[in-house]
Amino acid sequence: MAKPTVSKPRGWAAGFFPAVFVAAIAPLAAAQPPAEPAATPALRPLVARATQAGLRVFRGRHLMLVTDRPPRDGDGLDQLPPIFDEAFAVWCRHYGLDPAAHADWQALGCLVVDRDRFRAAGLLPDAVPDFTNGYCWLHRFWLADQSNGDYRRHLLLHEGVHAFTTTLLKIDTPTWYTEGIAAFLATHRLVATAPRFQQTPIPAVATEVEQLGRIETIARLRAAGEAPSLDDVFQLRPTLHGTITSYASAWAAVAFLAGHPRYAAVLAAAERGPLDARFTARLTKHPGWDEAAARRDFDAFTADLDYGYEFERMTIDWSPGEPVDADAPPLRIVVRADRGWQNTGWRLRAGQQYRLRASGRCVVGTVGEAKKQTVLESEADGISIDWYRGRPMGRLLVGQWDETPDSGGRPQFQILAEGAAATFTAASDGPLFLKINNRPANLSASDGQLAVDIVSVDD
Ligand SMILES: [Zn+2]
Repeated sequence: MAKPTVSKPRGWAAGFFPAVFVAAIAPLAAAQPPAEPAATPALRPLVARATQAGLRVFRGRHLMLVTDRPPRDGDGLDQLPPIFDEAFAVWCRHYGLDPAAHADWQALGCLVVDRDRFRAAGLLPDAVPDFTNGYCWLHRFWLADQSNGDYRRHLLLHEGVHAFTTTLLKIDTPTWYTEGIAAFLATHRLVATAPRFQQTPIPAVATEVEQLGRIETIARLRAAGEAPSLDDVFQLRPTLHGTITSYASAWAAVAFLAGHPRYAAVLAAAERGPLDARFTARLTKHPGWDEAAARRDFDAFTADLDYGYEFERMTIDWSPGEPVDADAPPLRIVVRADRGWQNTGWRLRAGQQYRLRASGRCVVGTVGEAKKQTVLESEADGISIDWYRGRPMGRLLVGQWDETPDSGGRPQFQILAEGAAATFTAASDGPLFLKINNRPANLSASDGQLAVDIVSVDD
């Protein structure tokens, strides 16, 4: 979440992150809460107390929402229980549960403005620690009211996932998964017609997830050379207060594993097992798990992550490539406009100079509203109408994967050359990659390709 949420009865302790990446998620509860009841506890008496205390109650099938927030036109509070019910079905399907078999499952959520009012009503026990944003205890959760309706709804669903996983799945997984899956399953957009809740593995636009700030956080960590490795995220430890950095990282790891074609099945297999303390070990010992590949793919993911990121278009082929003789004729390679980094299949020699020329024209997106869309076309130098990550959109980028960037941060692509004509020196023995500079969100509206001729330059 954009701000720390308190989510588990137990706390998390210090993390292993370097420098600024100080891991800190979730709270340390002041006291261990009472033992878990055998079934859904009696929530109705609590709702009756709320009504007696003059608090408002909104009822859905799965959520009873109590609040002291004064009524305001258009605050949408009455919509929260039905949206929660839709989300509940999505969460069930994620874990292979039949929603009909859990039709009676209920949670009691308290949307809190004045904590003293809830304490006085007997709805905020002393055992609940002084949470910053939210706290979940079995079938009950509390969240501090938020001025932004989208953020409030995300926070409510985040705590709702904790209630779901804690009670129905007895979750006791390492922190990265417990928090990451709550963030992952809560992230959504609302559409006009039911079911309005649409889970979005990676949000398409920033306005769908106002104030969450997770994609921005990963980008900021990347720019500062402080992005976590996948191992760093796996080692997130319980600590007193959460940070946006640790939440963003936990979300990124789950979004990556759930979405990447090389890891989605492995994560799903782990999720069918007990959600216990050995979860990470079972995930990484699965026969389909390749540790080095996962580490590199996660680094490539955090480097290129942005709104509208689609794994099908951004997944990287890491094949080592074939060397090409120095006196070979120019090699012609095509680079597609609707994909991220593309392996040319050509293995470069470190220190060797190469010259390239690119030709052709491709579509790199559209501008304007649906009925008046203008198609944006670009050649290899790019177009000045829009820039992305410091370079014109549509510009040809030439790169190699750099395991030890000068910045000192995690591995990433080093751009060796750009534009329609360039001479460059290979940074390493490894494959040459090409891409057309663009926002991930534009790739689905992009089309066509550029032709690139490359030749090694005699010494
Ligand atoms: Zn949480």
